[in-house]
Amino acid sequence: MALRGAIFLRPQPHPPPLPSPSPYARRFRRSLVVVVAAAAASRRRRPQNADGEFFVDHRCIDCDTCRWMAPEVFARVDGKSAVTKQPSSEDEMIKALQALLSCPTNSIHNERPTKKILEVHKMFPLPIDETVLPGVYHCGYHSEKSYGATSYLITHPEGNILVDCPRYKEKLVRNIEMLGGARYMFLTHKDDVGDHEKWSKRLKCERILHSGDVEASTADVEMKLHGEGPWSIGNDFELVHTPGHTKGSVCLYYKPLKVLFTGDHLAKSEESDDLVIFPIYNRHSVSLQLDSVKKLINLNFEWILPGHGRRIRFKDNQEKNSALEACLDKQLLYA
Ligand SMILES: [Zn+2]
Repeated sequence: MALRGAIFLRPQPHPPPLPSPSPYARRFRRSLVVVVAAAAASRRRRPQNADGEFFVDHRCIDCDTCRWMAPEVFARVDGKSAVTKQPSSEDEMIKALQALLSCPTNSIHNERPTKKILEVHKMFPLPIDETVLPGVYHCGYHSEKSYGATSYLITHPEGNILVDCPRYKEKLVRNIEMLGGARYMFLTHKDDVGDHEKWSKRLKCERILHSGDVEASTADVEMKLHGEGPWSIGNDFELVHTPGHTKGSVCLYYKPLKVLFTGDHLAKSEESDDLVIFPIYNRHSVSLQLDSVKKLINLNFEWILPGHGRRIRFKDNQEKNSALEACLDKQLLYA
């Protein structure tokens, strides 16, 4: 008779011994441990950060984005960004969170996550200057694929233009759609194309890139510019061929607002108010790039919105030309 509730224990056979790992498996496990440990270490706080909840980790690529977005909080220390002062006002906190979301390597952290981040997501794209540059926005969400380059959105009655490519982020897509989406994606040059395919499919926008910069990944862009231009988009926009940094570098000139989007052709020095061309990052011809800088003297603009670093606003066209001439003089001295 079987006993209810009784448990019969049968002696279990001994499990077969585990096969000893092959030398290959041992090596693989060891290297996996090393990789995981290295990844964790790279996410750790750089010791250069000021005490407090915000910090930058070791993966920072020194792209400068956080430093120009929130200069009160971030600075370069020992070749990478660090939090040098914890945010101490509402404005500084918002800017630090905007920088956190824009960092291309997700290297900025906040030890006590805040619900405020949800509000900050909704702020992008950020208006650059609602009074002087209405309809011109900074997209944020910089992409590591373009070394943290800045992407802009211009809203315009004849169709919005996305200038270069931000990181693909669903929240940003929805915010751009609320501003009317984009009719064109203008790509200044081959380095800053990032997630162009995903964006163009989602927004159903036509991509514009100079044929001199078309590569396998961009072979299917809808509009390829050939020759030396200039080309127009409607009455308000001119595309100016500025070869040098790359063969197919092109600037976008927004005539009514006197703004030039320069990609990697021309930028502001991080240390001073000087204009610079970064010869060490040149990918085609420095002398050609200098010729293309000279060409800008003929354009009447007062703002430079660059692919990397700080925006520049000149008092007038004359001040802009003095800055261009100083840049050329300085560069020729080093040449
Ligand atoms: Zn570039």
